[in-house]
Amino acid sequence: MATVDNLLKRNVPISNSESRCALCQMQLEDANHIFLSCIMSAGIWNELLRWLGKQSALHSNAIVHSSAFTNIGNKKDGQFLAGVWMCTVWCIWKGRNEVRFNHGKWAQDKMVAEIKSRLWSWKQAYNLRIPTEDFRAWFAAANLEESGAERN
Ligand SMILES: [Zn+2]
Repeated sequence: MATVDNLLKRNVPISNSESRCALCQMQLEDANHIFLSCIMSAGIWNELLRWLGKQSALHSNAIVHSSAFTNIGNKKDGQFLAGVWMCTVWCIWKGRNEVRFNHGKWAQDKMVAEIKSRLWSWKQAYNLRIPTEDFRAWFAAANLEESGAERN
């Protein structure tokens, strides 16, 4: 992945200001920072957690983060949550490239909406467990507790 830290390792010349995260301008850009610990992407993760009705510590290591995130629900939600995780990372990367290369703006609300819409359109192809046909209600609150409850 062409993050700044990787480009520097390959001796690609990058100025000091360019080496900083395009989103917060504060830290060296590496994958863990962009996707997980940057204050800008953390805003997206927190918004998604609220949407899912869950709380979780946001780890700054990708493996720990992904494993914690996909386990915030019950077992049945694991595949869906893995889908949320991948979709989010992908949207953050796209958003970062917009900011870095196209002078784009980081629009958290728009990105969160895009993540949800994509998940909805992926649900059949990736067999994501979304136990409702009511897109508007789901878009407003996915609420795992309810959707993940055992049905007798
Ligand atoms: Zn940052």
